[in-house]
Amino acid sequence: MAASAKQHGLDRHVARLRKCRRCPRMKSTPVSGGAIVSKVMIIGQAPGPREPTLKRPFAHTAGQTLFRWFEKFCGINEADLRAKIYFAAVCRCFPGKSPGGTDRIPAPDEIRNCSAWMNEEIEILKPRLIIPIGRLAIAQFIECEKLDRVIGRKFRSRRANQVFDLIPLPHPSGASAWHKIPPGKTLLEKALRKIARNPAIIDLQSGRGD
Ligand code: SF4
Repeated sequence: MAASAKQHGLDRHVARLRKCRRCPRMKSTPVSGGAIVSKVMIIGQAPGPREPTLKRPFAHTAGQTLFRWFEKFCGINEADLRAKIYFAAVCRCFPGKSPGGTDRIPAPDEIRNCSAWMNEEIEILKPRLIIPIGRLAIAQFIECEKLDRVIGRKFRSRRANQVFDLIPLPHPSGASAWHKIPPGKTLLEKALRKIARNPAIIDLQSGRGD
C-alpha cells in the first residue's frame, strides 16, 4: 500500500473507531492516539478515568512512568513517541470501576468486540514490532501466566495475517510493584534494552519508520 493510501486508510479507520458504541457497559467513548502511520504499535489494556477527558492514551500517572522508561532506555521522549508510534489497546473505552474501586478489567465479550479494531490496525499498518503493555494486552498474543516468563524476551508473533516481533512490557501502573523489585526490575530493563535495539525502533528514530 502506498504511504498516502495507508494514511488515508488509517484516517478512515480512526474516524470509525471514535464513533464505536458496541459495548453498552463501557463508561466512555473510545480514546485514540490518532492516525499515526507507524511500523511500531503499543498496545495498552484500556483507558483509565482520566484519558477520555484528556483525549489520549496513557495520559495520566501510568503514562508518565511508561514515557520515562522509553526516554531513559530508548532515548525517545513522550512527544516523539506519540508522534511516531501507533497507540492501540485491548479495549478503547473506559470500563468503569470494579466493586473494589480499581478500574474494571474488560469482560471477554468486550475484548472480543474491540479485537476487530486491533486486527484492522495490524492489517493496515503491517507492524514490524508490537509492544503489549500489561498482562491482559500480552495475553492477546501469547500465553502469559507469569510475567517472569515473558518480560525480557522477544517473540515472533502472528495476528491478522501479519508476522512481527513482540516485546512485552509490564503495566507501568503504580498499583503493581512487580517492575520495581527483583526479578521484575531487571527483566523490565532487559525488555527495554531489547526494544531500543530493535531495527523497527532504530529506523523510527532515524526517520525511516513508516
Ligand atoms: S471497547 Fe472497543 S468495541 Fe467496545 S465500544 Fe469501545 S471501541 Fe467499541
